[in-house]
Order: sequence, then C-alpha cells, then structure tokens
Amino acid sequence: PAAPDAKAEIKKSICTHCSVGCTVNAEVSNGVWTGQEPAFDSPLNLGSHCAKGAAVREHAHGDRRLKYPMKLVNGKYTRISWDQAITEVGDRLLKIRETSGPDSVYWLGSAKFSNEQAYLMRKFAALWGTNNVDHQARICHSTTVAGVAQTWGYGAMTNSYNDIHNAKAMFFIGSNAAEAHPVSMLHILKAKEQNKAPLIVCDPRFTRTAAHADEYVRLRPGTDVPLIWGILYHIFENGWEDKEYIRKRVWGMEQVRAEVAKWTPEETEKVTGVPGAQVRRVAEMLAKNRPATVVWCMGGTQHTVGNNNVRAYCILQLALGNIGVSGGGTNIFRGHDNVQGATDMGLDVTTLPAYYGLAAPAWKHWCRVWGLDYEWVKARFKTPELMEAPGIPVSRWYDGVNEAKENVAQPDTIKAMVYWGHAPNSQVRQPELKKAMEKLDTLVIIDPYPTVSAVLHDRTDGVYLLPAATQYEVDGTRTASNRSIQWSERVIKPMFECKADHEIMQLFANKFGYGAELTKNIKVENNVPVIEDILREINKGAWTIAYTGQSPERLKLHMQHQQTFDKTTLKAVGGPCDGDYYGLPWPCWGNASAKHPGTPNLYDTSKPVKDGGLNFRALFPEYKGESLLAVDSFPEGSELPAGHPGVTFGMLKKLGFEADFTPEELAVIQKIGGEKVDDVAWTVDMSGGIQRVAVKHGIAPFGNGKARAVVWNFPDPVPIHREPLYTPRRDLVEKYPTYADKKMMRLPFL
Ligand code: SF4
Repeated sequence: PAAPDAKAEIKKSICTHCSVGCTVNAEVSNGVWTGQEPAFDSPLNLGSHCAKGAAVREHAHGDRRLKYPMKLVNGKYTRISWDQAITEVGDRLLKIRETSGPDSVYWLGSAKFSNEQAYLMRKFAALWGTNNVDHQARICHSTTVAGVAQTWGYGAMTNSYNDIHNAKAMFFIGSNAAEAHPVSMLHILKAKEQNKAPLIVCDPRFTRTAAHADEYVRLRPGTDVPLIWGILYHIFENGWEDKEYIRKRVWGMEQVRAEVAKWTPEETEKVTGVPGAQVRRVAEMLAKNRPATVVWCMGGTQHTVGNNNVRAYCILQLALGNIGVSGGGTNIFRGHDNVQGATDMGLDVTTLPAYYGLAAPAWKHWCRVWGLDYEWVKARFKTPELMEAPGIPVSRWYDGVNEAKENVAQPDTIKAMVYWGHAPNSQVRQPELKKAMEKLDTLVIIDPYPTVSAVLHDRTDGVYLLPAATQYEVDGTRTASNRSIQWSERVIKPMFECKADHEIMQLFANKFGYGAELTKNIKVENNVPVIEDILREINKGAWTIAYTGQSPERLKLHMQHQQTFDKTTLKAVGGPCDGDYYGLPWPCWGNASAKHPGTPNLYDTSKPVKDGGLNFRALFPEYKGESLLAVDSFPEGSELPAGHPGVTFGMLKKLGFEADFTPEELAVIQKIGGEKVDDVAWTVDMSGGIQRVAVKHGIAPFGNGKARAVVWNFPDPVPIHREPLYTPRRDLVEKYPTYADKKMMRLPFL
C-alpha cells in the first residue's frame, strides 16, 4: 500500500449508512478524497467500521452518480442546465399551485438530509402552503415514535448505543443488528464478555445476530405481543416484577396483569410457536440479570400492529424496572443515519419542528422564530383549516392522486410529486404507486443517484432528475438513533454539477417568490444558506426536545475533542459525561453558554416522583389475532412487480414450503409474489425480512386471521457458527437462496 500522504488533511465526517453514527476520518489531498479510516479513539466505533462504513468514499465517488440535471424528453433522459431546471420545474409547480392549490404538490423529503436541511425543508413546505411533507420515518419507525411517546413521553431511543455494554442481559426482537447496525455489535459482544450478559434474540428468521444468541427464540411472524405477554406471565407468576418501581412509577400495570394471566405457557405456545419451557427460561434470564436492555428494529415496527408491539416491549421493561437506568432502557435501532433528526425536525405531515404539532400556537411559535408574520404564513395555505390539518402520509400519497379520497384528509388531488432523497422501493402497493406516478403532471427527483423513482413509471415526459450533493459534500449535523447530535465536516466540494440540498431549496424558494422569507434570519452566500445559522435558528426554537444547547461551536469542538478523550477540553465546553459517550444527545437544555452535557440516558429514575422523577403509563395494547394477518387483507388485484422486496412463489417452491399452506393461501402468494426466485431484490436492512414481508403483504402464516397455527416453517436452525462477524456465511448463502439470488436493479440509462 502507498505511504500515507503526510500533507493530507483529516476531515471528520460521519458514516451515512446506518443510524449508529460512526465517525469517519477522511483523508483529503488537494481537495481530492484519497482515503478513509475509522476514528480509532471514538467512544462509539472504537476503531472499527463495518463493510458499509468502510466504503463511504465510494458513495461520493460512485460511477453511477447523477452528474447534471436531466429531463425526460420522448422517453429519454436529456441533459439540461440548472437554470433551465429551476425555471421549468418552478413554472410547472407554480401553475399547479395556482390552478389546483398548494396541497397539489407533495414535497417528500429525506432521512438523508442533515438536521439543518430537514428543518429548512419543513419551513420550505410551510411557506409553499402545505403539510404534504414527509420522509422515510413514516415507513420504518413511525409506530415506534408513537408507541414510546405514548408510554413515557419522548419518541426516541432511551439510552445510548454505547450504554449497551453496561447491560446485564439483552433482549432483541425484530432486530438483526449484526447486519443492519454492525458496529453496535461491539457493545453487544462487550456486554456478553464483560458482564456475562445473556443475549436473547427473537426473530422468525435465524439471523447473524441470532448466531450470537444464548437463547434464540423463533416466534411466528406477528406474534410479538403474545410472546411478551407469555414472558410476563412467568414474571408475575413468580413475583419477579419490580414491585417498588411499579408502585412508585407505573400506572396501568394492573390491567396488563389481568390480560397476561390469560397467556399461560400452553396458550402462548399455541399462538407464538415458542415452546412454553423456553418462554419461561427467557423470563427467568431477564428477571435474574438486571438491568436488561430491549432492542428492536423494523422487524417489530413494520406491522399493521407495530404500535402495539412497541407498547408491549415498553411494558416488559416497566415490569422489570429497567427504564431510567444505565444498561437498561429501550434501545431502538433506527434505519437511516438521520432518520431521528429528520423526525425531530418535523419533516412530517403531523407536526412542525420539535414535535410542536400543527395547532395555531405551534405555528405562532415557529413564525416568531422564523421572523415571519403569522397571518402572512397562514395566507399561504388554501384555507386556515388546512394549515392545521395533517397532510397525506407518504404511505398513501398515491391515494391523493388516484382519488381514493376516503383514505386522505386533504381535498386537493396531488398533481406533482417531488421525491427529494427518497426512493419508493420500500413502499407497498407498487402497482398503485406506478399508476399514480403516471397520472402526475410533474415528477421531480432530487438525489445524488438516480433512484427507482426514475424508472418505475412508463412516462415519456414531465420528469426531472436533479443531481444533489452527498452528505460528504456538505457540512451539517446529524442525530444518531440515540439522539446524539454530531457535527459532520464537509469532506469535499460537491462533485460534477451537484448542488447541496439546502442550496436547491433556496433556488426554488427564490423562484417561488419566498426566498427572502425562507432565510429571513439566516445568512445566504451565493444562494447557499449558511448551515451554522440554520442550526442557530433550530437552537432558538426547538425547546420541547431541547435542541437548544447544541450550538455549531460546541458541536465542532466535540467532534474534535471527544475522539481523543480530551476530557479537559470537553469539560470546558460542557462535554458529555466522562468521554464514554459522544456528541450532545438531546435534551441538551439551555443555550451554548449553559454547557449542558446532553442526556445519554433518558428518564433518570434515581429521583422520587415527588421530586421531579418520572412516572410512566403502561398503555395497554390489545392483541387481536384477526388484525394481524388476513389473507384477504391484501387489496384485490394487487401484485408485486419484479424488484419489490418480497417473498415470491418461486422462492417458496424452491424452499419446499408449499405443504405448509392451504391452496387458498398459495393462490394469494402466487398472485402477489411472482413466479421466479429472481423477482426478489432485498433491501439493505434484512432485519425481520420474512416477517415484515409476510405481515405487510398478507402472506399468511395465519390463514383465516384467527391465529390458526399454520407454522411459518423454516428449515432447522443453521448451526451456530462463532465466526468473525463480517465473514460471508457461505453455508447460509447456499442454504437460503434469497441470499444467493440477490439482484440489484440496474437502471437502463446508466
Ligand atoms: Fe456506518 Fe452503521 Fe457500519 Fe457504523 S455500523 S460504519 S454507521 S453502516
């Protein structure tokens, strides 16, 4: 290998491939990104990256990047200039606004935005006059945000990735961290080694995370709530619950106890497929090794009953007294690098930034922060009522086009869709999505890469592809899954003709006539709003979750000094704890000068309730077997197009599963699943894959919807291998053709 370039500058950026937030030391020589290393002293990634993180340079340098703006002309993408793009797209959207109202344009943002970009995009949509603005969180963890918020207040992970190594037991459900959040495994394995903490992994699929489990629990898809009730049955039966904790802090546990009493080992086994003895063993492990952490991911959330699952997981922790303590908590692993931050910034149909909601006082608060007149902003909307009404969730935007109006609150038909850093691969009902895309007047795609949105439809015109900079080409902050906000330094300038998202927002706002209002209190240099000023505006307004103390100056110092455990400097700037954590996790109260160290672990229960300590609500989720999976719940006439992540009929045959399904069920699978094994293109996050697919698409382990015991019958578990984490598992590849047949969709014009 070549000797390191002595003159290379080191830029500190953050890996964008998952929500762990590993620091990347990028080497730059003469403005060229020449190499990268993990940050060896980071308390989080401790000198390691996973395979995804080790290749972040390729994300900026990928040879399939969009290099210049393009427009679809007679079915062919043709190069245009930025001026032409802004003028033409702007004129088309303004015309739609004039004739059909502002809600006719849908602004779909991204969990790949920095916090500043997500915040600016929310304001941008508000000034356009719509709440039709959303992002990926709608599809992945919206059930988590609602479920945990209903239980204890904040819609976020309670503890920290690097607090997991303080756990005495770990309970994973619907999370395949070894593949989806690989560096988190460092802390998980450390807890196993140093605390002898047993790892319990519940998943219908035997995953790489399950390969490290002390107890692998194969539950039937969709039976999370009964499994948790079955575990709680033993906890209450044996008096293992934390009685003092419940008495002092938990409201509603009696109702839970009454329901749980019905979930005897026999009943639990009948519904979940998990042997009664194993359920008891898990309960005992959790009871005897406290605190335990509970970890979940999309395998738990992407269900018709995802919100119930989340509340059941929370209740398990409340019964054991595991909330508000280091090593405990609900550690919810989110997907994209800034999905937590984009949610916090209100890039969402239901709220303004920082979960203020959409009622008049929320608008008045943010108008004050923006320096804008509330009445002027109100007049941007078609009616005052629409200003306070939720927009159409992205999961249903096509109903807004296809005029299935009973599904949506907004009266206007959507005529234009802006896919800004968002690909629709993960959305269900793709035939309807495709149909809606074809009906639109205008489709705009803004992304560093051409996504599936560019080719999913059969349009011949009215589509624009605008090249955006990657996250490595802009400065800004991102909020990891554990609420920790970090400054990410720009590594290189935007390549080719790509522009930063916030610059594109400013250019469009100028065209629409509200450029000055968008950045009233924010300095703009050559049409690029200054990121530090946007963050200062967030600091000024985001009091509910205290994004107030994370000034650009403090975050930059943190990025430099936490890596070297320079505790003296960290202390001087209000460093987080003792160098064991990173960034400044919200809530970080006060302002820059207050030096609040951030809150790595939420809900400190060391204080009695009367002195301000917290109490919680064991909000009771109902288990209704019939709501989980009904074969006929899949809309009539639906089919999965090639390339959609799903279980195909061909795959089913290849695995020899046919015998486990009734003819009716097989017919459904055949109808929606495609004939060929190759029809499958898995998404990067495999967690809960089969489970998610089965639940989403009505593929039926439960036949008639009454939790009938048709077993989702995987072959026997793969023997546990204690190999290094990142070695390809050839045995799995051979055994499960879904791995071997992985296909990437190639875009025809590249
Ligand atoms: Fe990147 Fe996540 Fe891997 Fe860390 S664990 S290197 S953040 S993909």
